[in-house]
Amino acid sequence: MRRLFSLIFIAVILALTICAILAKQSRKPVGRPVMILDIALIPPVLGNLIIVFSSDHLLSLIGCYMYYMGMNLVMAALMNFIFEYCHCKWPNKTTMLVFYFLLLADNLQYFMNPIFGQAFEVECITVDGFPYYRMIPHIGQIVHRVLDFSILTVAIVILIVRCIQTARIFAERYYAILAVMLASAVWQTSYMFSRAPIERAMIGYGLFGVLIYYFAIIRRPTRLLDRMLANVASEMPEAMFFFDANERCIWANTPGIELVGIEDENFFQANTSLREMFGEWGKNKAEWTSQQIGKNADEIRHYRLQFQPIQDEKGRSAGSFLRIRDYTEEEKQRRRQMYNSTHDALTGLYTREYLFERIQQKLRDNRQMPYQVVFINVKNFKLVNDIFSKEFGDHALRTIAKWVRTDQSENCVYGRLGGDTFGVLVPVEEFNAAQLEEELGHFVVDDGNLTYRLLIHLGVYKIVDKRLDVAVMFDRAHLALSSIRDEYQTHIAYYDDELRRKTLWAQQISAQLYDAIQERHLRPYLQPIVNTDGKVVGCEALARWIHPKEGFLSPGAFIPVFERNGMIVEVDRHMWRCACEILASWKGRFDELFISVNISPKDFFFIDVLSEIKGLVKEYGVDPARLRIEITETVMMNEADDRMRILSEFRKSGFIVEMDDFGSGYSSLNLLKDMPVDVLKIDMKFLSRSDNENRSQTIVQNIINLSDDLGISALTEGVETEVQYKALAQMRCKLFQGYYFAKPLPQEEFESFCERTSA
Ligand code: C2E
Ligand code: CA
Ligand code: CA
Repeated sequence: MRRLFSLIFIAVILALTICAILAKQSRKPVGRPVMILDIALIPPVLGNLIIVFSSDHLLSLIGCYMYYMGMNLVMAALMNFIFEYCHCKWPNKTTMLVFYFLLLADNLQYFMNPIFGQAFEVECITVDGFPYYRMIPHIGQIVHRVLDFSILTVAIVILIVRCIQTARIFAERYYAILAVMLASAVWQTSYMFSRAPIERAMIGYGLFGVLIYYFAIIRRPTRLLDRMLANVASEMPEAMFFFDANERCIWANTPGIELVGIEDENFFQANTSLREMFGEWGKNKAEWTSQQIGKNADEIRHYRLQFQPIQDEKGRSAGSFLRIRDYTEEEKQRRRQMYNSTHDALTGLYTREYLFERIQQKLRDNRQMPYQVVFINVKNFKLVNDIFSKEFGDHALRTIAKWVRTDQSENCVYGRLGGDTFGVLVPVEEFNAAQLEEELGHFVVDDGNLTYRLLIHLGVYKIVDKRLDVAVMFDRAHLALSSIRDEYQTHIAYYDDELRRKTLWAQQISAQLYDAIQERHLRPYLQPIVNTDGKVVGCEALARWIHPKEGFLSPGAFIPVFERNGMIVEVDRHMWRCACEILASWKGRFDELFISVNISPKDFFFIDVLSEIKGLVKEYGVDPARLRIEITETVMMNEADDRMRILSEFRKSGFIVEMDDFGSGYSSLNLLKDMPVDVLKIDMKFLSRSDNENRSQTIVQNIINLSDDLGISALTEGVETEVQYKALAQMRCKLFQGYYFAKPLPQEEFESFCERTSA
């Protein structure tokens, strides 16, 4: 029996030593207090070993002192540990000093025991046939016990408070230590009252030291982690499924349960459902997306899945989990945004940028198929908006969009290029020109109240090089439209070699324009304007380009090029300046003559026409009344109010404003009523279209009458014969211009022409 106990005590001492060493190596803050506690436990256990093992009186006494005085050390170490472990401190310094003083006093008391015998004495009894010295407690020993128990109680109370104060899952670390301490305390108490000869409580304390090491340092609060993880997993909005090493589902969070419909926590059901919904998965397929039909049959839900195997620290499979995220809302949002950025709000067709992207894609995907792009343009769409309403205009655009969509195969791509233009990519063989011509011959917009015929033209560019910029392809298709002469008869035009040549030529002369202005290769020719007496009253300045290589270029060749690319501004500015120069040079010679200059509608987009021209007359000291400005009704196609204001300003500043080419376009007599113009230039050419001489005469007569009524003087251009001249004069037309009098002439020739005729 005594041997057995001795062995146990030795084992406990060894265990405590090992724990103390390991605790010292631990990096946790609680490592040091645990080490101190375990070391402190060694003397009392050793004392007990001596008591149990020796049959010698003196040795037994030494054992007793080691035991009791050691216990005080243990109490100090215990408090030290408890404070560290429970993250608390001595309430104040005095309490701490009192505590250590009491322990010290208790130990002093034992030092005095050999003299006064107030603490204990030993009596010899026989255990296992050997003498055994048992302690008989006196008052000092009782005081010692009270002290140690009180300290133990304080430690226990601190732990209990901690257990109550701390959240349940975190309190686990205190429960374990508390349980161990209570057990040790109960054990020691029971021994005290049992009067069993051998002190066993110390075994309990020894174990206490080992267990404290275990709970405070070794044991990871896995339950705590588990619960925290489970909480996190449950709270996750994504569905989570956990599988064991045999790939059976062992747990799923609420979203997971809802996703596959697990009943009564029968998680294993999930395996089949998941595989049915999302297919197989594994190492090779760890991340994928999947679409499922939602609860409403017409709703598609989007899932992103992620599979993750779990391995233990030795790399063995410990199971796996699957995360499934429902990103339907994000996807919807993304698609909405995508749709908005790629689709035109009015027509629902692709936007220009997206159309180009899709066309590029299509061309890349179908390298073999011959394709062409079609540029669709509505002639004078602006008028539709102006004459009817914006609503009707929108309706018209939707009607066109609907027509564009009709009968398109999956090989086609189409969209709205902007404003009133649309674009289509179509395989050459699917383009049915005859049918399209037929359809466009009577393209009508009808909103229920109103029916209006739209004039739509298609420019076609057959793609030769598929790598060409799509924008350039459409530019070419657009350019093809310029080749249409009879726009009511022909609706489709093709970009061909002729156009290609023209494009190249346009690029060349554009590059040469600045030099041509500098070198004065570009200069005005003056066409006389005469009155009813045949006397020259002024002239129109018409641009001519005397090209060093190409020879004489008439404006019909280059003006449209510059109108398209905006360089017309440079031409006009130059012409205005030349006109002012000439007027200035005429001072004292042809003081009464005026010069009319042309203003392109484009000029208003790029420069402040009014201040530009005002600046010029000022610079050359020219009377504004002698520089007439010719505008066409197309200037009114944009920002009519603003243009109206500018023209009024011109008149206020003393200029005479002429409406050019009246009758050639959409001339509405209505518009004329409000237009601030002084002269109406009636275009004879537009009349010659009609063979009916009488009808033409009636129209001209009416226009002249009307302008008379409005206080506007009429000028007829394109007068080629004496008959015309006479007839027009009869109709009370005041001014005339045309080949009958003279062609546009170089300045000197014009001057001598004037001198000749006035002579
Ligand atoms: P426009 O302003 O209507 O000029 C009158 C055009 O009719 C001139 O053609 C003139 O030569 C031509 N013409 C004059 N009398 C007769 C005739 O009896 N019979 C026929 N068949 N034609 C006649 P041109 O000079 O070739 O100019 C053509 C157009 O080019 C002009 O038409 C004008 O729109 C534009 N243009 C000419 N110079 C300039 C310019 O400096 N700036 C701008 N923006 N446009 C210009
Ligand atoms: Ca003109
Ligand atoms: Ca004209």
